Amino acid sequence: MKVESVFAPLIAPRMDRIKPSPSAVVTQRARELRATGRDIISLSIGEPDFPTPPHICEGAVEAMQRGQTRYTTVDGTPELKQAIIGKFKRENGLEYKTNQITVGAGAKQVIFNAMMATLAPGDEVVIPAPHWVSYTDITLLAEGVPVIVPCPQSQGFKLRAEQLEAAITSRTKWIILNSPCNPTGAVYSRDELKALIEVLLRYPQVHVLADDIYEHVLFDGRQFFTPAQVEPELYERTLTVNGVSKAYAMPGWRIGYAGGPPTLIKAIAKLQGQSTTNPCSISQAAAVVALNGPQGFIPERTAAFQQRRDRTLELLNQVPGLSCHKPEGAFYLYPDCSKLIGRRRPDGCRIENDQDLALYLLDCADVTVVQGSAYNLSPYIRISIATSMELLEQACTRIHRACAELS
Ligand code: PLP
Repeated sequence: MKVESVFAPLIAPRMDRIKPSPSAVVTQRARELRATGRDIISLSIGEPDFPTPPHICEGAVEAMQRGQTRYTTVDGTPELKQAIIGKFKRENGLEYKTNQITVGAGAKQVIFNAMMATLAPGDEVVIPAPHWVSYTDITLLAEGVPVIVPCPQSQGFKLRAEQLEAAITSRTKWIILNSPCNPTGAVYSRDELKALIEVLLRYPQVHVLADDIYEHVLFDGRQFFTPAQVEPELYERTLTVNGVSKAYAMPGWRIGYAGGPPTLIKAIAKLQGQSTTNPCSISQAAAVVALNGPQGFIPERTAAFQQRRDRTLELLNQVPGLSCHKPEGAFYLYPDCSKLIGRRRPDGCRIENDQDLALYLLDCADVTVVQGSAYNLSPYIRISIATSMELLEQACTRIHRACAELS
């Protein structure tokens, strides 16, 4: 008798619902090609290229020397929760108590926990597209149904009130809003949020997950707004998610956090207590230093991102077949590549979609980008500007040459 007929397959069916992160796949491919001697420029990276500031690293060393190397409270140390309460008050005008704060291993874990703790099979999550890849996969893993609402470039890649109204059903449990947005850099103004909130006030069963992770990467003097701050009535049903990965250049430290309703925060702690337990104690101590320490380097880094955005935008808009809108925040550009679809590579292969274009740029220009299909809005490519100006200029020259060779 065959072994397969006796034993069930090792891998659970739920794994078929999700896919590996496309940007991680491309970044890994770039690493492999580099190892073979190819000079690859990676524009698929989703993390700042700046180092973690030295005073934060020193905070971590001191924490280790103090012996802060033991388990902590599952969902964050009291010191870190206080620092987060201070941050929400100082920067967002939001008041939270300790039982309204949760800390996880990155904003990703916080979002994962929130969905796992709240979604019953068939519950719907409204996700404006294009969107960060993980929202859909996390929803699917939690047995929810992602309701993708396409937000085309003609509307600034932003969700409109009438679209939100049309997407809500009796099964809608969450809407996810991400501003500044990965991958488009779209930023919601106070008025744009207000228009969405007016709809939400009519549907009290819908909760809001505000993913504010790019809060500080905001260009042209724009002001940041988060839903719970814009409408106090929404506060009770909003989970405001943030973290230290982007603002403090600490993606590897894995600290994300959220403020929200105590019942949800308690459920998240219960789930985390049976999965990963507390986030790294040393990283938590470093996050306290980050949130309570000097903040002056943040606008300096944002100014560097803005200079890169301007230069890269100028160069990309000279590439035959690409046309790029001006992102308002985050560190990505999302050029429209529709004019290149249907063209042929020098080897005769046809570019059928944005994934083919991303592959072509890797094969023939030694540049990694992520295809727009990964973010549920094609045909686009996502270009990260979290790399030096020199490399960005080199990469744009390569992209220009490769696109000019398409016939
Ligand atoms: N939300 C968005 C929109 C992101 O782009 C990312 C990371 O790329 C995250 C959340 C996750 O951040 P963290 O490193 O805190 O898990």
